[in-house]
Amino acid sequence: MKPHRLTLTNHLVVSYGLHKKLEVYQPRRATEEEIMSFHAADYIDFLKRKLFSRYNVGDDCPVFDGMFEFCKIYSGASIDAARKLTSGAADISINWSGGLHHAKRVEASGFCYVNDIVLGIFELLTHFPRVLYVDIDIHHGDGVQEAFYTTDRVMTVSFHKYNGDFFPGTGDIDEVGSGVGKHYSLNVPLKDGIDDESYIYLFKAVMEAVINSFRPSAIVLQCGADSLGCDRLGCFNLSIKAHGECVRFIKDFKLPLLVLGGGGYTIRNVARCWTYETSILVDHEVSNDLPFNEYIDFFRPDFKLHPHLSGKVDNMNTRAYIQNLRIKILEHLRYLNGAPSVQMQEIPPDIQGYLEMNDEEEAELLADTAKGREGKERRRRRDLDTEYYEEED
Ligand SMILES: [Zn+2]
Repeated sequence: MKPHRLTLTNHLVVSYGLHKKLEVYQPRRATEEEIMSFHAADYIDFLKRKLFSRYNVGDDCPVFDGMFEFCKIYSGASIDAARKLTSGAADISINWSGGLHHAKRVEASGFCYVNDIVLGIFELLTHFPRVLYVDIDIHHGDGVQEAFYTTDRVMTVSFHKYNGDFFPGTGDIDEVGSGVGKHYSLNVPLKDGIDDESYIYLFKAVMEAVINSFRPSAIVLQCGADSLGCDRLGCFNLSIKAHGECVRFIKDFKLPLLVLGGGGYTIRNVARCWTYETSILVDHEVSNDLPFNEYIDFFRPDFKLHPHLSGKVDNMNTRAYIQNLRIKILEHLRYLNGAPSVQMQEIPPDIQGYLEMNDEEEAELLADTAKGREGKERRRRRDLDTEYYEEED
């Protein structure tokens, strides 16, 4: 989880000129209040003061100087990225420094201290009635699943390695949510070595069915790159093309989309993967030959965007296993179709309104708010000199 992953990604994105297809914002740091909308006050106090031993920090989650500052930066970026969607200023927002899906309300876990995804989804929920969370990191998205386990306004779907032992140990197919949230958590447990063909087949079959049944009004996609082949901690066989194909598939539903990073421990491939995915998100094809940049030596010996990554691990997912999984998951989703639309507790006042509206009214209001806010956002943007636009000024 070294920040160098992000430096490398940034350099590749810029050397391909992809930043010219984006609006680049310098995000604000998340405030303590915002962070405490999910995390417990005493846990945040601990992160600030770096008390060891309690709250599981120190082992998988090393304590370092500027730790809380680091949390505020990546969390602020996810909240701001979500806000670009709720304000209608963007249709897709990207924060490659976010996606820290393991952090719990009162616990650091798996290199994650503050759960920026949960905070981003909270922001989306102030505006969108239903949010879908999709996680393609090799690890189960446990922190996000837990946060929304009892609500039907957020559906979480995680594709990951599962054998009961692999970190974080959760994510079996029978974890489906509870209470009002029953059937709104979905897990796709996979075995070692899954290849492009099986993964894409399963991903598309499951996600198409989920989106058609749940009808989300916005999607959050966690793009953990440790599901790639040759990852230092991972054990799948995915190519960068296949990982990116999942991003393309979700993007093609044309819903407001928040794209986040996540795990990924062979950093040159993390940078390649997120650069390729940036190119997909801005609809700009890029060459397989990496453009020259300061960090080009990291990409030896091939200097390609798409190195060969498969075949290091045997594929333990038989055709029958994949088919069986698909059938079981589609069966789960049938419950979802029949689920009554139940109002959840603690609904912000504007959301209560949305829930009582019919679909047509809802669409109209969403469009109106987006238009109005877009204009306001444009005018406001002119005044910020820390942000970067294609026109350079
Ligand atoms: Zn991971």
